[in-house]
Amino acid sequence: MKLILLGAPGAGKGTVAKLLTAIDGSVQISTGDILRGAVQSGTDLGREAEGYMKRGDLVPDALIMGIMEKRLQEPDCEKGFLLDGFPRTIPQAEALRELLARLDITLDMAVNIDVPREIILDRLCTRRTCENSDCQAIYNVKSNPPREEGVCDKCGSPVVQREDETEEAISHRLATYNEKTAPLIGFYEKEGLLLTIEAVNSEAVVNGVREKLGL
Ligand code: ADP
Ligand code: ZN
Repeated sequence: MKLILLGAPGAGKGTVAKLLTAIDGSVQISTGDILRGAVQSGTDLGREAEGYMKRGDLVPDALIMGIMEKRLQEPDCEKGFLLDGFPRTIPQAEALRELLARLDITLDMAVNIDVPREIILDRLCTRRTCENSDCQAIYNVKSNPPREEGVCDKCGSPVVQREDETEEAISHRLATYNEKTAPLIGFYEKEGLLLTIEAVNSEAVVNGVREKLGL
């Protein structure tokens, strides 16, 4: 499947993407994971992106398009891909449309994961992430804590609160989402690609996608 996952920070895009990869071997492409990996390994990209990310601001479109142009041409994308956290702005969506046309790739749809704001806020404040950039497993102190406090079940690295998950950065990220990313819902509706799912949980989203694609 070739999908875009839309939704506010904390809507569950990453969790849904991981569940969908198990269905048909499509790869999850998370621009947030790629950027955090680059910051940790101190590459040029990481150095450029770091300040924006700490503040909860978007990284400039040109940097993101450079990453995605390369990533979408890697061979593992042939089976399909789940775009998680990209596109994030109308210019990115327009550039993506052009890029896909050039690469002769057709999207199945853009899935809008719709979650009430109270749930989003609560989730983001209690979310914890594995610090290892090759793992980045996600936990929740209330609903899904690691077996041993502060230690990743999967790889044993420290599980921490992300620097952009302080209360201040979270409210800034949500404002940025409303201003810059929410307009993509209208964009993909016009393209005839939008599927909105009111998400009580991630399984419900996965089932909605399966049903629509007949999988
Ligand atoms: P979340 O969806 O939880 O906000 P992500 O992991 O997707 O978090 O992104 C973390 C940060 O990485 C964003 O706040 C932003 O600074 C940067 N980022 C990720 N994807 C993009 C993108 N497509 N365009 C611009 N910035 C991005
Ligand atoms: Zn881990």
